[in-house]
Amino acid sequence: MYQVGNVSALNSRGQDNVFKLSSSKRWGKCGCQLGARQPSLLSFVGSDSMGHKLKIPAATVMARPRKDMSPLKVVCIDYPRPELENTTNFLEAAAFSASFCTSPPTKPLDIVIAGAGLAGLSTAKYLADAGHRPILLEARDVLGGKVAAWKDDDGDWYETGLHIFFGAYPNVQNLFGELGINDRLQWKEHSMTFAMPSKPGEFSRFDFPEVLPAPLNGIWAILKNNEMLTWTEKVKFAIGLLPAILGGQQYVEAQDGITVKDWMKKQGVPDRVTDEVFIAMSKALNFINPDELSMQCILIALNRFLQEKHGSKMAFLDGNPPERLCMPIVDHIQSRGGEVRLNSRIKRIELNEDGTVNSFLLTNGSVVQGDAFVFATPVDILKLLLPNEWKDIPYFTKLEKLVGVPVINVHIWFDRKLKNTSDQLLFSRSPLLSVYADMSVTCKVLLFFSSLLL
Ligand SMILES: Cc1cc2nc3c(=O)[nH]c(=O)nc-3n(C[C@H](O)[C@H](O)[C@H](O)COP(=O)(O)OP(=O)(O)OC[C@H]3O[C@@H](n4cnc5c(N)ncnc54)[C@H](O)[C@@H]3O)c2cc1C
Repeated sequence: MYQVGNVSALNSRGQDNVFKLSSSKRWGKCGCQLGARQPSLLSFVGSDSMGHKLKIPAATVMARPRKDMSPLKVVCIDYPRPELENTTNFLEAAAFSASFCTSPPTKPLDIVIAGAGLAGLSTAKYLADAGHRPILLEARDVLGGKVAAWKDDDGDWYETGLHIFFGAYPNVQNLFGELGINDRLQWKEHSMTFAMPSKPGEFSRFDFPEVLPAPLNGIWAILKNNEMLTWTEKVKFAIGLLPAILGGQQYVEAQDGITVKDWMKKQGVPDRVTDEVFIAMSKALNFINPDELSMQCILIALNRFLQEKHGSKMAFLDGNPPERLCMPIVDHIQSRGGEVRLNSRIKRIELNEDGTVNSFLLTNGSVVQGDAFVFATPVDILKLLLPNEWKDIPYFTKLEKLVGVPVINVHIWFDRKLKNTSDQLLFSRSPLLSVYADMSVTCKVLLFFSSLLL
């Protein structure tokens, strides 16, 4: 779902919040190379027309660059890729994916997969590695699902969502390595940056020192930040966290039934800790507030960030995800005999008499058969397409409890560089927004253009 709108409340002190989306939206034309501009036929058939739909009419006010504004100096430093390869989690992920390739099947299977988001694409990639023939069916005319992006008339990209790749993602990091595209991740300084609602335009940082191992680097980052929490609040929070640190995974899983807000209360953590830190964190993790989010989600993230030295390090992809991430996966799948088909929306799951899947019926009337079937669409889609015969099977009845969260993503192109941004993901701490980033700074391919993704 998309919404592009005015952003009068952003941290942009000292500048007009005026933007437009039209052919003259650029802050300044220059001769820089904007990466691969030639779309592949497979991924972008018709995607230009989808880009048109996203455009705001030119009625939006356009301001001329102000004469008194001196060009903003943007410092863009490349932070080295962290040494993830020797971490336990990464080694496990690498060994797991390598295990698929060890013994080719005696009879390769045709495996039909619904949905070419990152789940469907990686499922197809690993099935192809294992010697099977994946047939990946995507409803839309663009790859990537929630990382899909569209190009407008000017050749600029609108992304479905701002995406961060954490050091704590061993499988994703391993996938990048296997595809030979590690250099497409632009790593940022090891820090978490929070906007200060009471001081517009200012940020408060949690800096993780490089010299300290985990969890000391995280503890140091929390102790050193005095703008957001008082010492008393930090100590009470640390005491509240003790059972999670001592109880390990078992304790974390047992917290699934309790919300973040209730958990904080139960542990005697002051409300201000929730308000200052966990509203932002809950929204960033799941797009919902602490009174709705399960504490298990927060503890899983906190555990990873505290246990892994590079876990909370963040990277941005160096361009639009369909071309820079999805296409290498598609190339890999096709090079091993697999297929990826766009505009192939599944309308019905056809069953055999014994209740097993026979085929997928597509909305264009074609029928796709296979030896095995995988659904990698959002859960709401599977709920809609679930055959009546399966509805009472306990495995599927559990789906009823899974509810999608509606999210609106805002991608704004400004006609000038923004002040008061940073080469980092920014936790907004507003009641509405979760995170945002000045993509013209975080994503070097966009350095000369002004674009804010929220
Ligand atoms: C705004 C936003 C920001 C996010 N930021 C981050 C982040 O910073 N870091 C992070 O790790 N995660 C982030 N996420 C989450 C991340 O994007 C998702 O977890 C991930 O992309 C989901 O991938 P998926 O393949 O499971 O599902 P999807 O990406 O939803 O893919 C499902 C695919 O199935 C297709 N489909 C649907 N119905 C059918 C049908 N009937 N037939 C065939 N195909 C069908 C869809 O078109 C889609 O392509 C963000 C999500 C959003 C929305």
